[in-house]
Amino acid sequence: MNSRQPTRLEAGAANAIGRTLGLLGDEWTLLFVQQAMLGVTRYGRFRAALPVSDAVLTARLGTLTAEGLLERNVHRTGPLRAEYLLTSRGRSLWPVLLTIWAWERRWVTARVPALPRMVHTACSRPFAPLLSCGACTRPVAARDIDAAWGPSGTWERSVPVASTRRRPERGRAPGRAGLFPETMAVLGNRWSSALIGAVFRGVTRFADFERTLGSPPALLADRLKTFVSLGVLATARAEGRPDRAEYRLTDKGRAFFPVVATALAWAHTWFLAPDGPALVQTHRACAAAFVPDLRCDRCTDVVHRRTIQIAPSIDAI
Ligand SMILES: [Zn+2]
Ligand SMILES: [Zn+2]
Repeated sequence: MNSRQPTRLEAGAANAIGRTLGLLGDEWTLLFVQQAMLGVTRYGRFRAALPVSDAVLTARLGTLTAEGLLERNVHRTGPLRAEYLLTSRGRSLWPVLLTIWAWERRWVTARVPALPRMVHTACSRPFAPLLSCGACTRPVAARDIDAAWGPSGTWERSVPVASTRRRPERGRAPGRAGLFPETMAVLGNRWSSALIGAVFRGVTRFADFERTLGSPPALLADRLKTFVSLGVLATARAEGRPDRAEYRLTDKGRAFFPVVATALAWAHTWFLAPDGPALVQTHRACAAAFVPDLRCDRCTDVVHRRTIQIAPSIDAI
């Protein structure tokens, strides 16, 4: 596949959201991309950085290469050596990783050790990204955006598709690799990622989740329970009757919106359905189509991949 060009989706097939959730809803994808962004290119370095078996590592590198996030280069001079390099498609996931980092740093306070700070090199200060509107530059939260299905947008076509058929990897829990444990619980499997999408589309009731996502009730109850225990959702009404309860985003849950917004932007950049986008978003305040920017909360400039650095240590700032 050509990883530099957007993928043209088949008519009537899974849309950009379904394809993206299928990819990001696999707990390994973001971990591999993160390692690649930190400069890991070789098999042995991936093996050392992630708690994976050889079989899983080989399969994952194959999938990410097939999906166009990594590119395999073989050096033909000297000993045969392959390296896996991020493509522009893979690299352009950086806003998703940055907003995940910011959310974990702000809301997952129990983690030890704490996540390092990020520095905006343009102003030399530790910063957090502010989700803002690309048209009017104002900061935005989920409530500021009107979202409607686009021409390729239906629940059926937005349900995550697995990029590969795979055997369950028993005993393997990358969420515990110490990177982004709570994000992995929210986003790192297909039903959870579909559920968080439905929550941000305003679905609140058990029966409506079941109907819109087509998920098995026991699985859905389990995922909702996890979201409540993480403090991402809170239940209202009908205590002890999950089928009657309403689930609402907490402050912590609402704060996850920049991850959803940047993932959606990535989805619509790289997956084009012939009938048009899956979701049409409008920034209510300026009436422009919502294109997310990330701005530095200190100097308010737009941040770019090359103007972000991991702070050398927490004490150094
Ligand atoms: Zn705006
Ligand atoms: Zn700045």
